[in-house]
Amino acid sequence: MEFIDLKTQQKKIENALNSNIQKVLKHGNYIMGPEVKQLEAKLAAYTGTKHAISCASGTDALLMALMAYGVKPGDAIFTTPFTFIATAEVIALLGATPVFVDIDSKTYNIDSTKLALAINALKSKDTSIYPLPLTPDSSRLTPRGVIPVDLFGLPADYDAIEPIAKDHGLFVIEDAAQSFGAEYKGQKACSFGDIGCTSFFPAKPLGCYGDGGMCFTNDDNLAEVMESIRVHGKGGHKYDNVRVGINGRLDTLQAAILQAKFDIFPEEVELRQTVARRYTTRLNPLSSLLTPHVPEGYNSVWAQYSLLAKDEDHRTGVLKKLQDHKIPTAIYYPKPLHMQMAFEYLKYKIGDFPVSEDIAKRIFSLPMHSYLTAEEQTKIAEIIMGEG
Ligand SMILES: *Cc1c(COP(=O)(O)O)cnc(C)c1O
Repeated sequence: MEFIDLKTQQKKIENALNSNIQKVLKHGNYIMGPEVKQLEAKLAAYTGTKHAISCASGTDALLMALMAYGVKPGDAIFTTPFTFIATAEVIALLGATPVFVDIDSKTYNIDSTKLALAINALKSKDTSIYPLPLTPDSSRLTPRGVIPVDLFGLPADYDAIEPIAKDHGLFVIEDAAQSFGAEYKGQKACSFGDIGCTSFFPAKPLGCYGDGGMCFTNDDNLAEVMESIRVHGKGGHKYDNVRVGINGRLDTLQAAILQAKFDIFPEEVELRQTVARRYTTRLNPLSSLLTPHVPEGYNSVWAQYSLLAKDEDHRTGVLKKLQDHKIPTAIYYPKPLHMQMAFEYLKYKIGDFPVSEDIAKRIFSLPMHSYLTAEEQTKIAEIIMGEG
């Protein structure tokens, strides 16, 4: 059994893949070939956004979005500590300061009530309101933006987050690296906030065969700036550079591969719902393990199907049982970002984000992909149930 099975999918789209790849080899426009623009148009239409700007990775998508806002040293960007390092890494890369906000204990996404507290704490320089980073410049930080993460494919609570951000004049960048294909109240992930950023890393719900990413926005100006940043800050032409940018393009070959995958993507999203539902039906009778909570109005795209154990020992026991039966598992994420050595300089303490710290000790993920069979899932459930 595989944690994420890409081979079954590949067989299914073999012809389209081969023909799309051959087309690129034939025209030879490996950089920004026609497939790139075609893919951008298709995905903009799918997400219901005006502009889609493809790029080299989900990390670059986040970086380009922050650069489009001119994020710089002295800026504070609010985000969750319960995410992949890239979310906060891009903030630090630009010299700005990540300000962490704990998560909701049911959705594992940023807690909007605590977001409001953290913004007020920063503005009033009062750590009794909410924990803040303690860097030499932390008393002079300017709140600039929020990066909510749609963790495990479930969109964050944008109905609560967007008004808070607006009140304080902050931009919202949706880290939709795990949520392409998800929905909230009929609106597609990647279309929330001011810019949505996704990733086409192979293991994501829509993945390519290498690295890739995309930014989505309805703002003409932001789109234009991100297109410029993507290609070394280009102006009117390639050797006219109006700003400092990056080499952040998506390869034509990856765009061609993504088009073949995107053709069956809506169908795969449905299959993911079925697979997730089957897990929940089979595992719900077990009171000691908590199945994922999807609030009313949300459609997760199930980048991960994650269970919550009673405590760390319980998790270790269940994982061992699964391992003994050669069932692959994963822990996303074992260490919240405020406890990572990379962010030691922010001087956060253990206990600052108790929900993230607690969830990190108890969470684990089961194999999840569109082609997981009912038999495989029954087997996994039986092994887990045997754990008691
Ligand atoms: C995967 C991921 C990223 C980074 O995407 P890459 O394409 O690997 O650079 C950023 N944020 C989150 C939440 C992710 O899961």
